Amino acid sequence: MPEIYRGVKFKVKFLEKCEIKDKRIRKLASWCRIFAARGLAPRHAGGSAGNLSYRAKKGFIITASGTNLNHHLAASDFVQVVGFDFKKNTTTAIGKKNPSSETGLHAYLYSLNKKIKAIFHGHSELILKNAKRLGIPVTERSALYGSLQLAKLAGETLRTMKKSSSIFVLKNHGFISFGRNMSEAGERAKKALQMVSREPKFSDRVPKKQKASAFRERIK
Ligand SMILES: [Zn+2]
Repeated sequence: MPEIYRGVKFKVKFLEKCEIKDKRIRKLASWCRIFAARGLAPRHAGGSAGNLSYRAKKGFIITASGTNLNHHLAASDFVQVVGFDFKKNTTTAIGKKNPSSETGLHAYLYSLNKKIKAIFHGHSELILKNAKRLGIPVTERSALYGSLQLAKLAGETLRTMKKSSSIFVLKNHGFISFGRNMSEAGERAKKALQMVSREPKFSDRVPKKQKASAFRERIK
């Protein structure tokens, strides 16, 4: 049975409870709308099942907890996370709302790879079901949302996956796409969805090589 969403599972220490200012927030808001419109962040009772972030000068900027990504998002729907203490399970933030429930997961992945400048987390049954066929790595096990275990499993997958890959699946949960900027992270998720959506009979697809040999057989 899927776990019921019950908000953030960590403490938040606000450095300032004010609206954050950063030019790139508009771009993140537009990616939030794209995710919602394409069904990559479906609605649930507590908001949208997805959270998007980019690396800022200090820490990163992420969607607030319980945000409906389909709405016209204002600066107050984003929070700057300047620190995450995993031992104390506490995040330090600037903003008007709590940061996303998966803040720890984003913080952990940013800490593992400095080249990652944007992390988008979405939910898509289609991508989950076809991950293996698409060559998308999957975490070894599943874990509860917002947990340190989930962050660690994601980190392990990030460490062991091919350097050229920029998307992986959190088992029985959702996916993480990332990149050197927001466009890379977003386009990678869009591409994965396009691959599974365009071809409903993806599993029956005949590889090109096979097609060519079948044709040669016929003309012999
Ligand atoms: Zn999720």
